[in-house]
This record gives sequence, structure tokens and C-alpha cells, in this order.
Amino acid sequence: MKRRTFLLGTASGFSVLALAACVAPAPVPTTSPSPTTLTPSLVPQPLTVSRTNWSTDPFSRGSFSYAAVGATPEHRAALGQAVDARVFFAGEATAADEPGTVQGARASGLLAASQVRDIAAPGERITIVGAGIAGITAARELVNDGFNVVVIEARDRIGGRIDTVSADWPFPIERGPSFVHNTADSFLDDELTALGVKLLPFVRTPEVRTRAGEVVEVSPLGTQAVAGALSWAANQQQDVSVERALVDSGEASLSKTPNAEGLSDADWLEYEIATKLKVETGATPSQQSAWYTTDSASADDDQIVLGGYSTLLAGDAEGLELLLSSVVNRVAHDDDGVSLRLGTGESLSADRVIVTVPLGVLKDAAIEFSPALPFAHRGAIGALGMGVVDKIWLRFDAPFWETSARLWTIVGEDADFPVWINMMPLTGEPVLMGLIAAENATRLSELDDEAFLAAALTALEPFLAVPDQ
Ligand SMILES: Cc1cc2nc3c(=O)[nH]c(=O)nc-3n(C[C@H](O)[C@H](O)[C@H](O)COP(=O)(O)OP(=O)(O)OC[C@H]3O[C@@H](n4cnc5c(N)ncnc54)[C@H](O)[C@@H]3O)c2cc1C
Repeated sequence: MKRRTFLLGTASGFSVLALAACVAPAPVPTTSPSPTTLTPSLVPQPLTVSRTNWSTDPFSRGSFSYAAVGATPEHRAALGQAVDARVFFAGEATAADEPGTVQGARASGLLAASQVRDIAAPGERITIVGAGIAGITAARELVNDGFNVVVIEARDRIGGRIDTVSADWPFPIERGPSFVHNTADSFLDDELTALGVKLLPFVRTPEVRTRAGEVVEVSPLGTQAVAGALSWAANQQQDVSVERALVDSGEASLSKTPNAEGLSDADWLEYEIATKLKVETGATPSQQSAWYTTDSASADDDQIVLGGYSTLLAGDAEGLELLLSSVVNRVAHDDDGVSLRLGTGESLSADRVIVTVPLGVLKDAAIEFSPALPFAHRGAIGALGMGVVDKIWLRFDAPFWETSARLWTIVGEDADFPVWINMMPLTGEPVLMGLIAAENATRLSELDDEAFLAAALTALEPFLAVPDQ
């Protein structure tokens, strides 16, 4: 199954169409309306709100890694290389298969544990930085092998980007991953089901509305244009951005003449970018590699987790030695072992360390390595991208919508939240989950909660039930 295949993103600031019209393309300024104006929305105020802000989260600094232009799978492999058999790396960004997913992160934890097992002497002390799925998986493996393991975690909880919240909600909501991507080797859905976690198949067929609230048939033009651009790029000597591939292949040259519904062919390309490319990667088409971006036409459906993704970690975490609320800010090593310095100034020593912190944390050099990481690691950290996708969960007193569609999208408008998931048909509860991605997510990350909510409610207006005449 392809990674994060079902999802969607937003088109504001997208410059392919503008670029297509230029001889010498130049960056095009964003045309998004400012979300900071707190115009009251017609959508009722929700009873409960939960908003994520992964880009400003100091222990994540983004949502998940993506293939930036020029980045290759070799960069992920390089990032996963051990340094002097003392400092090991795991985490979704190092995953050879399914990077950016729970599956990929877990596989990376298994791999790092096997690398340590291959060279460590029995009973050695192994420190693991980060209690996300990669860190907890590695720790469980090594404890089972008889090593003396301690996991150091900056947050006051385990799970990292797996962030299930139950209090104040009629069912557990997921602030991080919500979907399960199975792979040929691993069936996460079966595992979750065996743990008593409820999942449901999630069919990706969206209900598409214009900003005016009109339901329209989705056109295949956008998907076809992106697929055409990616296959054009596959035959080029050098990787280019998805944006460049769309322009240079001619696929972005779509008519801008509106039809009776007010939509043009070009709107469907913007829609494809907004509702798929950006949410799948958290990046703009100008940032994404055309060689390593997946075309959504061949995407499979996923399953949505309704009963708590974090259950996946609970069993493996049981009985582990965990040091919560402890930020590691320096990792030093020599021939004798490793030494870790915490934010409190305390130090810890061990024989080896597995570092599982997100790519965003490494990119921001929030941890100092001594000696400095090798050139290949630094190259990989620089080359790979960290995308941004944020969520807003809203619980209403009663539904203000009439549609029973699970997946809502908006076309022909530069909506900040162009994708919504309607939990009503899935759970019977009037709860919605909105998604915002790439530069829109970064821009709105600066808003306070009130302004962020106002932007989300405005985006929902096309879904308001039409009042009886
Ligand atoms: C909004 C969103 C939606 C997503 N959707 C999906 C989806 O539907 N399906 C899917 O499969 N995947 C999805 N993902 C990706 C998935 O969540 C991640 O790939 C996976 O959880 C990463 O696990 P990890 O162990 O590599 O990293 P993390 O879970 O981030 O674990 C790293 C840990 O390191 C800790 N840490 C950071 N810095 C320090 C420090 N200095 N000292 C000590 N500890 C530190 C962090 O607090 C964290 O606990 C989504 C992610 C987000 C954010």
C-alpha cells in the first residue's frame, strides 16, 4: 500500500498556474485571504475544540518527513546509519519503506534494535531518546533480549506524534495519525483490532462542494495532470519539483474558463494539489520531489482508527524504565560509550544510544552531537523535508449539516481547511476533523486559538444545511 494515500491539502499560495503563464518562472506571492479577521461565521460554535500545532511543537517541529526535491531514499538510509557503533538512529524519517507513517516508524525501531543487538555485549546499558512508536518498539525488543534499557522522553507522556485524547470527547480523538496503512509485511489493522481498538474502512470518495455550497462531480483532470507530470519527470535526467514537472510537462496548461458551475479545468488541478498532494506530504508542490512523490491515482483506501491509536504502544511500554519530561540536548560519544546531557543539566551515561527524535528536531539542531555528526548524516538531515499538517477537531451540539458523506472537500476556492472528515456516520457523534497543510498550516500556526477556530468555521460554511423556505 502506498504511504498516506487517501488524504488531501490546501491550494492557497499555489503557484503552478501562475508559473505556467510565465516565461521565466519566479516565486509567486500567496493570494490567500488573511485568516486573522474574526468575522463571525454562520457555522455554530462548537462545544469542544482540539487544535494541533505540530510545527511549533518543540519536540516535533513539523508533522512528518517528505521527499523534498533532490532528496532520495539513500538520504533516509544515510540518516539511519550508526555512528561508530555507539549512536544509532531510528524514527519515521529513517524508514526505507513507508517513511512518514506509524508503520515506517515502527519498522525503523525494529531495525535499530537489531543493529544494536548485533554488536552489543549481553546486559549492556542502552539509552533510547524518544518514546514514540520507534523508541518504544526498539526498547521493548532490547529489553526482551536482556539489555538494560532506559527511555528518555521530553514530553510528560509516551507516544510522540501518536497523540490520542479521550477526556471531553465522546470517543478518543487522534491529534496525530488517524489512519492505518498496511504493508506487505505488517497488518497494523489486525493488530489494533486484536487489541480491541475499533477501526473502520475509509473510502476516499469525497463529497465535493464549491464555496457557495453546491455539490459537484469530481473531475479526473487534476489527478490526470499530476500523474502525467510525475511520469514525465520520471524520464528526466534530474529530479525536479512537482511544480516544475507540472509546468515543464505542459500538464499545468489547463483552461481557466469557468463552466456553468463556475469551475475551470485549472480549478481541478488546484483541487488535486490542495486536497491530495499537500496533505499527503505537508509540503507545497514547489518543495516536493517529482521523482519520489506518489501519484494519487493508484492510491488504496485506508482504515480509520476510532478507538485509540495509542493502544498500540501500551503493551510494549509496560514495565519499561521511562524518564518522562526529560529533554536531551547533547549526545556525546567516544570509544568507551555515550554520555547524554539533559535540559536540567544532569548527565547520563550508557554503552550505546538510539536517537529517535523527529527529523524536525534534528533539522533545528535542538540536540548537539559531539563529535559532530558525519557528513552523510548532516547531508540527509538537510536534504529531507519536514512537512506540516495540522488538525482541528470540533464537537457540536447537533449537526449543522445534512450530508452523510464521510469525506468533505472544497473546490474552486482557496480554503485554508479544504478537507474535512465527518465522524457522524462513523461514530454517531456530531464531530468533525479538519485538515490544514503545507504553507497554510505554517501561516495559521501563528494564530491564537480563537482566530484559528474562526478560520476553520468559515471554511465549513459550504456544508451548512440549507434552511427550509
Ligand atoms: C497530524 C499528523 C497526522 C498523521 N497521520 C498519519 C496517519 O494517518 N497514518 C500514519 O501511519 N502516520 C501518520 N502520521 C505520521 C506518524 O504519526 C509518525 O510517522 C510516527 O508516529 C512517528 O513516530 P516516531 O517514533 O518516528 O516519532 P515520534 O512519535 O515523534 O517520537 C519521537 C519522540 O522523541 C521525543 N523527543 C523529541 N525531542 C526530544 C529531546 N530533545 N529529548 C527527548 N525526547 C525528545 C518526542 O517527544 C517524541 O515522543 C501523522 C502525523 C501527524 C503529525
